[in-house]
Amino acid sequence: MRYKVLLEQHAQELAESITRENGKTLAEARAEIGRGIECLDFCLAIPSLLMGRALADVAHGVDVEVLRVPLGVVAGIVPFNFPMMVPMWMYPLAIACGNTVVMKASERVPLTLTRLAELFLEAGGPPGVLNLLHGSADTAMALIAHPHVRAVSFVGSERVARQVYEAAARAGKRVQALSGAKNHLVVMPDCAWEPTVGQILQAAFGSQGQRCMAASVVVAVGDIADRLVADLKDGADRIRVGDGREPDVDMGPVISQAAYDRIAGYVARGALGGAELVRDGRGEGPPGGYFLGPTVFDRVSVDSELWRDEIFGPVLAVVRVKDLDEALEVVNQSAYGNGASIFTQSGAHARAFRERVEAGMVGINVGVPAPVAYVPFAGWKASFFGDLHANGEDGVNFYTERRVITSRFY
Ligand code: NAD
Repeated sequence: MRYKVLLEQHAQELAESITRENGKTLAEARAEIGRGIECLDFCLAIPSLLMGRALADVAHGVDVEVLRVPLGVVAGIVPFNFPMMVPMWMYPLAIACGNTVVMKASERVPLTLTRLAELFLEAGGPPGVLNLLHGSADTAMALIAHPHVRAVSFVGSERVARQVYEAAARAGKRVQALSGAKNHLVVMPDCAWEPTVGQILQAAFGSQGQRCMAASVVVAVGDIADRLVADLKDGADRIRVGDGREPDVDMGPVISQAAYDRIAGYVARGALGGAELVRDGRGEGPPGGYFLGPTVFDRVSVDSELWRDEIFGPVLAVVRVKDLDEALEVVNQSAYGNGASIFTQSGAHARAFRERVEAGMVGINVGVPAPVAYVPFAGWKASFFGDLHANGEDGVNFYTERRVITSRFY
């Protein structure tokens, strides 16, 4: 509770730190802080979540108890895109479950997590309970291999998630590896138009499209595509790109020159490859940074890299289909299954979608269906490697062992 109060008192400083090292706007950084502190709220109820179970008199004079016990040392390896929220999916719950933690910060955003660790000590966290390592791939792999580490929580790209999952599993460790995504938003002709367009723009271009739950494909159903693409372009034209610290800026820079080059490469190849480049964000924003404005492609085909790959930038692909069945075929063909949403006012369409879509986090008229910390954060298919997801009861199960005691007294 003291840590929560301290984080709230330092919210402005933390928001400035997130914006400074990640580039997202201050408003987005403040929203991230709220989602991070929410993880602490979940931990505040930990005594009820750690309660065991007992079964008395299973045989004459014999009782059985199930107790939750900590694992020992657990490791957390985190990405650049949420410098506070993603680490807070890991260490608060791991510690609340009785473990000590070694976090490996993202080498691209090391400052915010360092400050979070300092504030943990200031709140009275015992020394040695939350530990912080700086470094990149070698450091992460050394941490995973260390014999004292019992479990590994990882969040990052698919390529690295596979490596981390394999290395940790080979060493006999418990592992949860949250990975990349390609999130689809299906738009039905009967949707509530204005809020839908607003949600799509927010989901596609918020945090520069550098969210694992970012919308990267819109599946336009029926005869709405022309109007939808026109409105998305108009909305994107109004997004102001610049220094995230300025109050009138909606979208900051992407994380690095390498990220800029990768994203711009997709835009260049997409324009050559048959998709229609409706809005080109290259060259937007102030000079001298990794700025890239919102980019929209129409008539994207499902055999293109624009549809297939996680681009992880402000690039939105529109795929046109005739009906909901075809829309579901498109969504379910993706190798990923993190988030997927439908925009409709029809209960029947919503119900069909939630039953048939292959994604762990499903939205109905919600552009970014990232759930609250009280339930598991759950991707499917290539978006997740492991068994127990982050947060909620899965998080508690991940960070604890169950010891079953059968006893008899004479
Ligand atoms: P990344 O995979 O490059 O790095 C993640 C972490 O892994 C960093 O700490 C990095 O130092 C470390 N790392 C890099 N190479 C490694 C290697 N070979 N072995 C071991 N560790 C290594 O990811 P990123 O670019 O920082 O983050 C963006 C990615 O994270 C996107 O793909 C995004 O979808 C994903 N992500 C997923 C979720 C989710 O919930 N599924 C949430 C946030 C981000």
